[in-house]
Amino acid sequence: MQASGNLFRRAFGPRLRLVLFFALTWLGVAVLLAFLLHDGYRAAERKAESDVLAAAGLLEARLTTTLRRVQSDLEHLAETLPPEAFEPGAAGRFREQVVRGLGLHARGFSEIAGFRVVDATGNLLYVAGWSVQSAGALDQACLSASTAGNGRIPYFSAVNVDRLSGRSTMAIALAVPDTAGGVQGVVIALLDIGALARMSDALNVGAGGVVSIRRIDDGRLVQRRPAVAELLNQPVKDDPLHARAVEGNGKAAYRFAAPMDGVERIYGFQRIGEYPLYVTTGIATADFLSDWRQTLFMAVASAALLFLALSLVLIRLLRAGQEEDLTAGKLVESEARYRMLAENSHDVIWTLDIPSRRYTYVSPSVTELCGYLPEEVVGEPLEATLTAESAGRIVREVDQRLRRIAAGDKAAGVVVSELEQRCKDGSVISTEVVSSYLLDAEGVPQTILGITRNVSERKAAETALRETNRQLHARIEEIGRLQVALQELAVRDSLTGLYNRRYLDETLEREVSRARREGNPLSLVMLDIDHFKKVNDTYGHQVGDEALRMLASTLLADIRAEDVACRYGGEEFLILLPNMPLETAMLRAEAWRGAVEGLCVALGNFRITFTISLGVAAYPEHGKTPDDLTRCADQALYRAKNDGRNRVSVFFA
Ligand code: GH3
Ligand code: MG
Ligand code: MG
Repeated sequence: MQASGNLFRRAFGPRLRLVLFFALTWLGVAVLLAFLLHDGYRAAERKAESDVLAAAGLLEARLTTTLRRVQSDLEHLAETLPPEAFEPGAAGRFREQVVRGLGLHARGFSEIAGFRVVDATGNLLYVAGWSVQSAGALDQACLSASTAGNGRIPYFSAVNVDRLSGRSTMAIALAVPDTAGGVQGVVIALLDIGALARMSDALNVGAGGVVSIRRIDDGRLVQRRPAVAELLNQPVKDDPLHARAVEGNGKAAYRFAAPMDGVERIYGFQRIGEYPLYVTTGIATADFLSDWRQTLFMAVASAALLFLALSLVLIRLLRAGQEEDLTAGKLVESEARYRMLAENSHDVIWTLDIPSRRYTYVSPSVTELCGYLPEEVVGEPLEATLTAESAGRIVREVDQRLRRIAAGDKAAGVVVSELEQRCKDGSVISTEVVSSYLLDAEGVPQTILGITRNVSERKAAETALRETNRQLHARIEEIGRLQVALQELAVRDSLTGLYNRRYLDETLEREVSRARREGNPLSLVMLDIDHFKKVNDTYGHQVGDEALRMLASTLLADIRAEDVACRYGGEEFLILLPNMPLETAMLRAEAWRGAVEGLCVALGNFRITFTISLGVAAYPEHGKTPDDLTRCADQALYRAKNDGRNRVSVFFA
């Protein structure tokens, strides 16, 4: 049993099983409905059969009663009419008596329209009630037919329709035998077909129903509801019922489409007693199945709705199944991916159960990190492999994080910490730990998912980098300082420390422009040591250098911050005096001349003195460009030399 169940499960996937289940459910309901419908159909058919037979029986009973009464009336008349009344020429005598008797019979018998009495030659002797047209032919027919019956079996004529009144009658005739075994005459009753129609009308055979009375011998129609005038007295064609009725079956029900109107009905027939007539009743299939058809419609609609609903549910379930499969597939895939990541990661991936504060999973790389096997760490408390300081810190931090999460701080769920880890061999490594607090459905943190990375090398590298960085900064500062010094050196004269000629050229240009722009005066003093060649020649170059340095420091000691003193050539100097008019400049030049005159360069036991000559030129009086001004100052100096040296001279043209 179990094995076959498994076989079934293997053979059919869950989706196919679901489809099968729904298909079988629907099929079950459909089969049940079909069975009930079939049953209902059969019941409706059987009811229609019994209804047509009941209706036929009812009509037959009434007709039999009527016909028997007609027959007994005719028999009574045949017996009671005096034989003399049939003798030729006796009619006048008996008319009153006979007609009264006939009238008495007709009066209490609504189905009888009238009576006639005919003699053995077919002459009408007596008549009471309704009389038909072309009565002669009828009388003759009655006479010949009933004579054959010899007074025992009544003769039923064809239906006679009165053209004027439209009244239909059928003659029922009975021969009146004489004592010698012959026939004296015939008594005829005219049966009112309208009375038969009323009997038919009383039957319930539905809107499409039909009731008819036919003759058994040739199937001619006696009466029909609904009436069709052309069919009256017409023999039946292709009617299976008629064949059965002729065969002698008393009654039966059949279903067929009537050849006359093409309507399918269930027909029942019944012979009318011992008379040569039979009754057929038919209920249209459309009528007796109308209720069933409504049920059929409802059932089909319900089945269709059920099918639709089941299909929708099925589609939903299949889709949900598909999505579930997809999700499950993705889950398996992602689990495999994460497992692969965890198992192959260089970092240690771990999970910690928060309530017990113990590791529940540790990835294999823990061995590489600190020498422990994963199973040596799983089940251990959080702080197991940490240094005392880190252990205390992490325990405090977890408590604090849990409090923050409980207070609804969403940012508290992920934290990065730096911890010191004790390895199995006793060494200590620096680790960076990223912990993520995983919440359950109620939002309570249950697990910490962590990634631990060995950052010892990185820390060492960071420290080294910091040191390198510090040294680099020191270097850069040094270079900065050197650069400033270099820049300074580039514009300074190495011997005297004064500005060099290049710097003067730039500065003079700038200061002349500024003086022009601001309308300020500017003076230039050019000076040259007198007979310096001699100093060099006499005391040597070094003494000359020393003299140059002393001259420079004398100048520097007595200039303003904005003044620019530079060594212009070998022992020629030029002093730029911004914002200083000519007169003041001359005073300044005179002061320097005096100061230098008082200088004394000591060299061993020697005391060397020297003098200078100075030339002064001023902007804007002597020149308006740097070149002009320099040339003027130079010419003024030349004059001072010419005028005997150790003096100040002003340029003039
Ligand atoms: P004058 O009064 O006409 O100026 O006579 P002078 O001898 O000073 O003549 P001049 O100015 O033409 O001589 C320049 C001398 O200055 C030549 C050289 O020996 C000396 N000299 C130039 N530069 C230096 C230097 O850097 N150091 C030394 N010791 N002597 C220098
Ligand atoms: Mg010179
Ligand atoms: Mg000189």
